[in-house]
Order: sequence, then C-alpha cells, then structure tokens
Amino acid sequence: MAIRMLDIQAQLGPIQDQLEAAAARVLRKGHFILGEEVEALEREVAAHCGVRYGVGVASGTDALLLALAAAGVQRGDEVITTPFTYVATVQAVTHLGARPVFVDIDPRTFNLDPEQVKRAIGRRTRAIIPVHLFGQCAEMDAINDLAARRNVAVVEDSAQAVGATYHGRGACGLGHMGCLSFYPTKNLGACGDGGMVLTNDEELYQRLRLLRVHGRADGYFYLIDGFNSRLDEIQAAFLRIKMRALGDYTEGRRRNAARYDEMLGEVPFVTTPHVPSYNRHVYHQYSILADRRDDLREHLKAHGIDSAVYYPLPLHQQEIYRAFHRRLPVAEATCQRILALPIAPEVVGEDEARTVCDTVRGFYKG
Ligand SMILES: *Cc1c(COP(=O)(O)O)cnc(C)c1O
Repeated sequence: MAIRMLDIQAQLGPIQDQLEAAAARVLRKGHFILGEEVEALEREVAAHCGVRYGVGVASGTDALLLALAAAGVQRGDEVITTPFTYVATVQAVTHLGARPVFVDIDPRTFNLDPEQVKRAIGRRTRAIIPVHLFGQCAEMDAINDLAARRNVAVVEDSAQAVGATYHGRGACGLGHMGCLSFYPTKNLGACGDGGMVLTNDEELYQRLRLLRVHGRADGYFYLIDGFNSRLDEIQAAFLRIKMRALGDYTEGRRRNAARYDEMLGEVPFVTTPHVPSYNRHVYHQYSILADRRDDLREHLKAHGIDSAVYYPLPLHQQEIYRAFHRRLPVAEATCQRILALPIAPEVVGEDEARTVCDTVRGFYKG
C-alpha cells in the first residue's frame, strides 16, 4: 500500500461535476477577471475567517506583497519575520526594497518567538510578519502588544492556516492584515494560483483594492503606484465550490492528527506537534521532530510511505540571503529534525495512519 502526501485528483473527484459546471458558467459569461465570483468569494472567505473584508489577488506571495505595500513598507525599512517558512514570506519584503530581520522561533510550535521579536524591534521596524506555520497560529497577543507600542504593522502569513483559530478568533483577523494562498496544495486550494488579503480596517481595504489594479481609479487616472495582481473569475468559482467542503476537510485533517498524536505519543526519539490549548490547529502539515530523520525517511520510503521536509534549510542560511545572516540556533536545529507525515484525508484514514505509525515505531525498534 503506497501512502502519498496528497492526492489532488482523489480530492477533486467528488466535486468534479460541480467544478466543470462552474467553469462552463464562467466561460459562457465571458467575464474573466475580478467580477461577481471574486466578490462572492471575498465575502465567503472573510466570513469563514471571521474578518470584515477580503481582497482577492493573484497569489499568496502577492497577498503578502500588497499587504506590506498597504502598510507603507518602503525601501530601507526593516520587517521582522521567521527564517523557518516558505521563501515567499521574505520575498514580499525584499521585493519592496525592505530588509528582512530574521529572529528565532519557539522550539515547540516552530512559530515566531515573541521574546526574540522584542529584542529585534527598533526604530527602523515597519512591520512584523508572523507565519502561522503548518496551520497553527503564532503568539499573536504578545506580537500585537510589541507592535502596538511602536506603531508597527502586523501582517499574518496565514497561507497554511485558513480556518485556524487563536483564543477562538480566526487567523487573518488577528493582526492588521492576514494573507491567504490558494495554491492547489494548500488547505483551500484553487486549480491554479490565487490569494487573498483580509482585514477589518476599511481604509486598508480600500488601499488594497487600488493596489491590485495599478492604483487605478475610474478610467485612466491613478491614485497610487500599484501592481497588477488580480484574481480570476474561474478560480474564484472553483474556490467557492471547494469552500463548501473546507470545514469537513479540516476536520478530516484534525482527526488524522489526533490518530498520530495518540499512536506516536509514546514512541521514543519522536516528538509530536505541540498545540497550546487556545490554538485550533488545521494541520496543513503534521510535522514531527525525529532523531535520525533522514534515515527514518528512507525507511518510510522503502515501505511505500511518502514524507516531506519543510524546511531543510532556514532562510537566513540560504546563499541568496547571506546579507541577512545571523545565528539562529533553534531554527537551525529544527531543520535537521523536522519531518512531515501524510495527513490529507483523501490519502490517510484509520488504516493508513496505523501503517505510518507502525512503520515509524518499527524503525526505532530495528
Ligand atoms: C504557500 C505559501 C506562501 C505563498 O503562496 P503562493 O500562493 O504560492 O504565492 C507564502 N507563505 C507561506 C508560509 C506559504 O506556505
């Protein structure tokens, strides 16, 4: 039995007819970019996250870029973030000519450590980007407090955390702006690229709407220097269909995580994810810490079980970011031991979860 990390065809199977009908509807209408489907999706995603406004954009990367631009981040500004994330988090900063300031993470949740943020925050800091890594929110109260004292913008990278909550409040509504990715492998994935910025702030909302269309007002008149970052009607139509299944899909991930927690909890040399009681984790990834990680991966592979390493090298140690290098021991050590197991409900059920856990246990016994 092969167990893969995910199976997009199996995931789309039950809604294939609805997706095809939606594509046909948009084709017949002939309006392809920013229209009724996008507006409806913006309302629906905002409601799902418990946030007032949504602005559909071309990708999760662009969502971050536009959010930082809306917050006024400019050349020479500093933006504090984690090095233990996907590269897009940081490219949003560097593409505005700003300087990423990497700070270390919490060894248990892998999210930004507020103590480290406190030490790094300064006169040049313009924004902080907490990343809700693997689907669990960062320590937002502490981060918001630090930001408020210095008038610094907080932009949540919620690309992996749609539907996650923190003290009962939804990701994307915890800072000034929250950013989602609809990349096909994300918990809410389109059939192509897409993203969204969410905010409760009316002024930021209006600025984001301008920023995604070149800063263009009516006609050929421009209010600000913007971008081209628009969401397609066809992707919005697909996403609206996938939205209806998002609650169940997330529950499926959480059920699998509970199975792993139980069956791997006692296995020596393995640490299961730490989830504080006030967090609702949506398990975009189920990442354990494992001794002899690379050998374990080989062992799983030999038994037909896929796994993945997010991430093998922290961003501050990447050659392209050597200008921003500093010693960050927790992130560096975590990259050596982190391992994501299959969690997607279209791939993993009770039997598969047991097979994965038995195989992990077998490795450490052998
Ligand atoms: C996927 C992802 C992004 C980028 O999203 P795209 O839609 O691929 O541009 C940004 N940050 C994190 C943490 C991600 O996982």
